[in-house]
Amino acid sequence: MIDFENTYADRLPGFFVSGSPAEASSPVLLQFNRGLADELGLNTTELDSERLAGIFSGNELPAGTQPLAQAYAGHQFGHFVPQLGDGRALLLGEVVDRHGKRRDIALKGSGPTAFARGGDGNAAIGPVLREYSMGEAMHALGVPTTRALAAVGTGEVVRREQPLPGAVLTRVAASHIRVGTFQFFAARRRFDQVRMLADYVIERHDPHLADDSERYLLLLRSVAERQATLIAKWMLVGFIHGVMNTDNMAISGETIDYGPCAFVESYRPSAVFSSIDTVGRYALGNQPAIARWNLARLAETLLPLIDEHDLDRAESKAMEVINDFPSIYEMRWLSGVRAKLGLEAMAGNDEKDRSLAQDWLELLEQHHVDFTLGWRRLVDVVEGRPESLKALFPSPDAVDSWLERWRQRLDLQQSSEIATTMRAANPIYIPRNHLVEEALVAASDHADLAPFERLLDVITHPFEERAGLERYAQPAPREFTDCYKTFCGT
Ligand code: AMP
Ligand code: MG
Repeated sequence: MIDFENTYADRLPGFFVSGSPAEASSPVLLQFNRGLADELGLNTTELDSERLAGIFSGNELPAGTQPLAQAYAGHQFGHFVPQLGDGRALLLGEVVDRHGKRRDIALKGSGPTAFARGGDGNAAIGPVLREYSMGEAMHALGVPTTRALAAVGTGEVVRREQPLPGAVLTRVAASHIRVGTFQFFAARRRFDQVRMLADYVIERHDPHLADDSERYLLLLRSVAERQATLIAKWMLVGFIHGVMNTDNMAISGETIDYGPCAFVESYRPSAVFSSIDTVGRYALGNQPAIARWNLARLAETLLPLIDEHDLDRAESKAMEVINDFPSIYEMRWLSGVRAKLGLEAMAGNDEKDRSLAQDWLELLEQHHVDFTLGWRRLVDVVEGRPESLKALFPSPDAVDSWLERWRQRLDLQQSSEIATTMRAANPIYIPRNHLVEEALVAASDHADLAPFERLLDVITHPFEERAGLERYAQPAPREFTDCYKTFCGT
């Protein structure tokens, strides 16, 4: 195993509390991500599963690790909580991966920290494997995300509504700095620390801004652009994060904290699955607006850095960025939706393409068509087999006039290989909620990881339709989806 580095610990004293993982009584390796370990340049090939379980339960810490719990605050469902912090997670340190990118390696579920606020610091195997599979699926779908390096059963019993087997997730992130990290220090009016944090973030995520006199304003713009890219990608795969609190929005632009998340089946902007989101604050269609709201909370923390002598001026500059967010988002969404429709960008066609895409979504919604399959079957239409698409609609002619409009638009461009590019933009397999639950129940209740491993294999190759996997492409029975509720991953 290579030596870890600790720039967060070294450069940001006062931003964390050191801690150490709780001892796991009998660690068992549930899952290890060899591909990611390679990408990180970790030398793990010599290590057997027993050693790996020891390491990734936190029992045996690799050289150079300096476990710490990060401080952060956050708006939870709109209400500010001045102190949250890592209650059950420890950053072990960082490694520079094979592409030269610095990545955090952290344990989640490794026992209570100074921020546990009465929580037990534990995680149960179900939510750990859920985060593992969701993150890997999102990565395969091309969505920026934190990733799972390992899942280890601890041998401990975790008390929830019922006793559950405990587990630890090893999470890899571009960094774990959140909007809430900035809020923690801004709320205490410790703007020197906000500046230290901003400088650290610029060096780590936006080094090209380091010498710019407007760097803090540009940092805000950069975070806004990353979020616009991210949320557009979520919307284009039908992903509902479920708990977009400011402490769950990463400055790096990666998806973080897979708690009550879900993929939509039949398309509905009002779709909500989280049991605690009673008013639909984090509904599918609200996500762009919530990202903007969260960015405004980040902007507030940066105002004294943007212009320390004139806060009104700072505010108007920051507002420009916040007000630009919807159009940046719309641009990212349009370019993604064009790829899904096989369209090339054409000058003067933005509005037409946007309404073509919107009308398609409305058709999917009106006829309760499965979102993922609806998109994917457009590829068959391009290949001269429209029947598979039509079969998804209650009457085969429901899509005729829209298909005609789409065909006319495709005729405006000369591209060949449309089907190939569309196939790479429209997955056939996503983590179907009922299949995820089925795999987690098998792992948690019966210590049977086979369904999980099969599912993981399918969803990490989402664009490649394979014989024998038909079941993984099908939506859940309607009764399942109608009652489906997700819970916070505690
Ligand atoms: P989350 O909902 O996972 O984003 O967590 C929100 C906050 O609750 C964070 O500060 C977590 O560290 C903390 N937290 C969640 N579950 C636990 C737990 N079992 N023990 C201690 N802290 C927890
Ligand atoms: Mg969180």
